[in-house]
Amino acid sequence: MAVIDILIPPACLVCRSRLADGQGSLCPECESQISFVKDNFCYKCGSGLNDGYCESCGETVFNFELSRSSMHYKAPLTELMHLLKYRGYRSPAFLMAEKMAESLKQYPEFEDYPYITAVPLHRVRRRERGYNQSELIAKKLARLSGKTYISPVLRSRYTLSQTHLHRTQRLSNLAGAFRVHKNWQVQGKKLILVDDVFTTGSTLNEISRELYKAGAQSVAGFTATRA
Ligand SMILES: [Zn+2]
Ligand SMILES: [Zn+2]
Repeated sequence: MAVIDILIPPACLVCRSRLADGQGSLCPECESQISFVKDNFCYKCGSGLNDGYCESCGETVFNFELSRSSMHYKAPLTELMHLLKYRGYRSPAFLMAEKMAESLKQYPEFEDYPYITAVPLHRVRRRERGYNQSELIAKKLARLSGKTYISPVLRSRYTLSQTHLHRTQRLSNLAGAFRVHKNWQVQGKKLILVDDVFTTGSTLNEISRELYKAGAQSVAGFTATRA
């Protein structure tokens, strides 16, 4: 737990209104604004459909078996993500994991995936931030869903932030950025690969390819949010 989480009296993470004891980290109003991904998504990659057509799958051949997201990337998730990634707050990760655990129940396709892993951060960026936000989410989700957390993937190359890159730049930026640690046996395993946000799916795609090369039986993406 971050020092900041202890010192400040319980207040809503987003609007700072005071919280009653045991209310968690969001006030009821902010909580009610969370928008879950429920329908009209592509069965393969989980992107929103446009007249029944998936533009993401039209542009990219995805390696993963399937991908799903829990919530739409809009308020209050945009604010929570900012706190988590740039302000040193860990608690949004745990909140996101709780929501993902609820979503998981609506996605029977994940039932026979016993393992959860996270998109790794390069150690330099991890040191800057103090933690890997996707790993915080994934570990908590594993505990809540009774699955086993493993960390077979390494980020071997420092990459530019994907945020301001186009789709093709994102793919070349990530080429060769990940590898599977040879001491981790992923052979024959079915894994859920967790990340904070699904934008173009290029990160999940690149890691999935490495996991398949290392012998994984199946890789499915699951992100807290979808841009
Ligand atoms: Zn609030
Ligand atoms: Zn799709």
